[in-house]
Amino acid sequence: MNEDCIFCRIVAGKLPSSRVYEDDSTLAFLDINPVEKGHTLVIPKAHHDPLTAVPPELLQKVILSVQKVARGVFAATNADGMNINQANGKSAGQVIPHVHFHLIPRFDRDEPHRNWAPGKYSSQDEMAACAAAIADRIKKQE
Ligand code: AMP
Ligand code: ZN
Repeated sequence: MNEDCIFCRIVAGKLPSSRVYEDDSTLAFLDINPVEKGHTLVIPKAHHDPLTAVPPELLQKVILSVQKVARGVFAATNADGMNINQANGKSAGQVIPHVHFHLIPRFDRDEPHRNWAPGKYSSQDEMAACAAAIADRIKKQE
């Protein structure tokens, strides 16, 4: 538990939250400032950040909770779609540095939502070099 972390304090029951699901390793609760009603956060109970630092066994449990909670949010809100969003670092818009997934119900009545603007590579070579650099770093982890 990280005493300075809002989500750790929620896990410990030191701050109130509207819990919708929990198991031994994960917790889901409503976002206090919902993008849409039913906007839910899913977190590991243990303090980890960023996503790349979460132990794989725990991350598996978190993503299974995301799936389970998403089914509940879909059913309870009658959502037509859902954005599942996870930010790492200030530059990505992250405010609370305890890994969390946002489950945001979406509706056909609204404009489609996507949280990025599509860009372009300047050439096929640049794109190939970018793919090769990432593939190389992934291989080095194995
Ligand atoms: P992020 O920008 O991805 O770090 O998102 C943090 C989210 O936590 C925001 O959407 C906040 O509205 C939400 N949040 C902050 N404090 C609380 C709280 N006490 N209970 C529920 N949600 C919170
Ligand atoms: Zn924490």
